[in-house]
Amino acid sequence: MIAQSIKCSNCGGPVEFRPGELIATCKYCGFTTVIETGQAFVFEHSLILNHYDQTQIDNPIKDWMASGFVKPADLARKAKISEKELVYLPFWVVSIIVKSTYRGVFERVAPPETKEGTIEKEYNWLVLAREASGFPTREYDVPLEGKIPYDFRKIEGFAKILNSEIEKEEALELAKQQIDAHHRFLLEQDVDKIIEMKNEFNLKEMVYLHAPVWFIKYDYRGNSYQLIVDGAEGTVLKGDIPPAKFGLL
Ligand SMILES: [Zn+2]
Repeated sequence: MIAQSIKCSNCGGPVEFRPGELIATCKYCGFTTVIETGQAFVFEHSLILNHYDQTQIDNPIKDWMASGFVKPADLARKAKISEKELVYLPFWVVSIIVKSTYRGVFERVAPPETKEGTIEKEYNWLVLAREASGFPTREYDVPLEGKIPYDFRKIEGFAKILNSEIEKEEALELAKQQIDAHHRFLLEQDVDKIIEMKNEFNLKEMVYLHAPVWFIKYDYRGNSYQLIVDGAEGTVLKGDIPPAKFGLL
């Protein structure tokens, strides 16, 4: 798809965006604009710093390959990293307190009992601001204590920055739906059937942030595999593991 551009209202540089993107950041000055209106973005925009360069990122990858009993024993030695791409992904972090009041039936006793209760939890709920699926958002524990105000000078020249395709209200709605589903999942420990569940949401803050994620490809014994690695702490968020061979085959 062809990128379009608008003029940055801060520095006058071209701000490129693609169809579907709603919030774009100028790569020359870091100014963030809501594309539809051309207005400045009025929310907090933060950045999580990447701590690995293109060579250093090999270390957590090799550590991951060398650990865990389900991996082939020679994986760290034989695997060849073929692609490394650093991407700053856009996220909404929804800081929210959620109180779910429920009524359900506990059927593991005879006769079944009706149970009532509440679940109250506080979250920094992460919503990926892209339509694409497949990113392990729930596995990703963003190190929020490390966030700084967005600073384009801290972004490596070789990195790619993705703009947001999801605006604030939609992100909040998604977070509420996901938390509702999560609480229903938690409730399954306590009741076998949920009669009703009502949520009270107390939104504290929403932050728009870019976080560094490495997309890695590696080859091992003729096949290609993928890894997703957090650039702040080097944690492997998702990784393809080649099948280990047992016996003398
Ligand atoms: Zn600019």
